Amino acid sequence: MDLSQNVKAVQEKIAAAARAAGRDPGEIALCAATKVQTDETIRAAVAAGIRLCGENRVQELTAHLEADAYAGAEVHFIGHLQTNKVRQVVGKVALIHSVDSERLLRAIDSQAQKLDIVQDILLEVNVAREESKGGVLPESLPILAETALNCSHVRLRGLMAIPPVSTVSGGNRKYFAQMRHFLVDIIGKMSDNHNAVDCLSMGMSGDYQDAVAEGATLVRVGTALFGARPLTMGRPEERISTDIL
Ligand SMILES: *Cc1c(COP(=O)(O)O)cnc(C)c1O
Repeated sequence: MDLSQNVKAVQEKIAAAARAAGRDPGEIALCAATKVQTDETIRAAVAAGIRLCGENRVQELTAHLEADAYAGAEVHFIGHLQTNKVRQVVGKVALIHSVDSERLLRAIDSQAQKLDIVQDILLEVNVAREESKGGVLPESLPILAETALNCSHVRLRGLMAIPPVSTVSGGNRKYFAQMRHFLVDIIGKMSDNHNAVDCLSMGMSGDYQDAVAEGATLVRVGTALFGARPLTMGRPEERISTDIL
């Protein structure tokens, strides 16, 4: 596996998908999903041109921050976040992608207030209504978005989704399109947009080109950059079991 070749290939595919959709490739950020990767691999990814890393687990985030493994790249939290771990994440990452309950939202807001900062967040939507997954159900999104917009120490930046692994090419396009509509609905209901709600975090190794075609502004890619992870480790659908590791 050649990491820098992979980085280049993914960047080129994102740009091609953007141009095919009549979009400016510069609108789409590539977030390297670094779960289970070592400090050394993360540094190599940054050296190869990765500007943004996404972490799933608080423990890995903390360790990589201590080792300065991100080497100047921006860091996001993209995994399921438990309320009791909010302190280890708020203020340490530029964006939290996975806010899916009022309880978690309030915990983040109050920790940010303690630190006297404003924490950028996304709301995670369970767009395919999968029982095994986190995320707010679509019908509960408007009220959670409104609550987020009214939090003084949280800034709502947009939405995130992890649709099912698609078995057919284009299989997730309908979900990505729905996500774009949800974002447009939220923006439409706002009296102003000083929250800068403009981020759609969607698309992974198997479907990021489809996500770009449907309006993603940030794709989270692991396998296509770093190769396959050990089985049973670090799949997003196993967030509940990995929490207790
Ligand atoms: C692991 C992970 C990804 C990347 O998945 P790949 O299929 O390896 O590209 C993206 N988003 C989240 C939340 C993840 O946990």
